[in-house]
Amino acid sequence: MRKSYGGGCHCGAVRFEATVDISAGTGKCNCSVCAKPRLWTVDVRPDAFRLIAGEAELIDYQFNSKVAHHLFCRNCGVHAFEWVDVPKLTGEKYFNVNVACLDGVDIDELMAAPVTYYDGRNDAWERAPAEARHL
Ligand SMILES: [Zn+2]
Repeated sequence: MRKSYGGGCHCGAVRFEATVDISAGTGKCNCSVCAKPRLWTVDVRPDAFRLIAGEAELIDYQFNSKVAHHLFCRNCGVHAFEWVDVPKLTGEKYFNVNVACLDGVDIDELMAAPVTYYDGRNDAWERAPAEARHL
């Protein structure tokens, strides 16, 4: 069921609202920038994401193809969300929200939801990696 969540970084400078159906599924990726913080995300459409506070506190880290904006809070370092601009793949910008940064997620709902694993390390987001237990 779609629900609206508040969310943000650790220090509270960055705050947002996201409307999303956790039960529809979450994602984990083995690429270099997702694997290090063991990022666990949920996709949020642009019209379902609203930054409330902290735009000036966000640092936009980009690398490689630079289609993804890996934002983090300059105060506490927490990576609460990122946005991706890959119109060739999805047709539109979308947000990856860090599930751990959403307030009040129902753990039973989260555990019951399917997890899609992405082999980003091999630029193969359409398939799961051979090993995903560590993600
Ligand atoms: Zn912060």
